[in-house]
Amino acid sequence: MTDTDTTATTAGVPSAAVLAAFEGATGFMPVGEGLALYAAAVAAAERTGLPLLEVGSYCGRSTLLLADAARRAGVTALTVDHHRGSEEQQPGWEYHDASLVDPEVGRMDTLPRFRRTLHAAGLEDHVIALVGRSPQVAAVWGSPLGLVFIDGGHTDEHATGDYEGWTPHLAPGGLLVVHDVFPDPADGGQAPYRVYLRALAEGFTEVSVTGSLRVLRRG
Ligand code: SAH
Ligand code: MG
Repeated sequence: MTDTDTTATTAGVPSAAVLAAFEGATGFMPVGEGLALYAAAVAAAERTGLPLLEVGSYCGRSTLLLADAARRAGVTALTVDHHRGSEEQQPGWEYHDASLVDPEVGRMDTLPRFRRTLHAAGLEDHVIALVGRSPQVAAVWGSPLGLVFIDGGHTDEHATGDYEGWTPHLAPGGLLVVHDVFPDPADGGQAPYRVYLRALAEGFTEVSVTGSLRVLRRG
């Protein structure tokens, strides 16, 4: 780090290069929420010295931020996805992207674009991609985490499974981040909101609110 490298010394803010990569990546996270996720990831990694885990890699948009935060703090980012897309990303649904279908298999496969995104940003050495169903991966997971970021399936079954599968691994003082929290049903589905309410009821405390992104700390 040099004296002129001002972005790298600004706590909790990604470099211009990482931000540009994020903005150019395929995915669903607005910049403001990305900045909040990044700040939480840096804080969690520096505080706990433990890995950061994401559910919902998709094409690597939010993963880029976790990877860079992990790099800065000297930890590793982990990201879980079966890479076959959520319900609303299947053909005929609102968030389907036909360019992400593997023509040979006839199903979505977001892993190739995910890998290109992380490679182009020079961050792939800081990420371990776990390809599989979130509850199945969580069931065999056995080490503590500094941050759990839930951004996977949006049904109650999936969101609850992510919460129940991963938060037991969150270290004391670690951060739980939930995306797509919409208190008003007119703004979006309620499953992540219900997970957020449950976390508050189970002893997590709110750290920040940015758009639909909620950051909570384990007491
Ligand atoms: N974080 C991404 C968006 C994730 S979209 C971004 O910033 O753009 C949600 C992802 O969750 C999809 O890629 C989908 O395949 C994945 N997903 C949904 N349910 C899942 C489950 N039960 N296990 C693993 N991945 C799941
Ligand atoms: Mg999301």
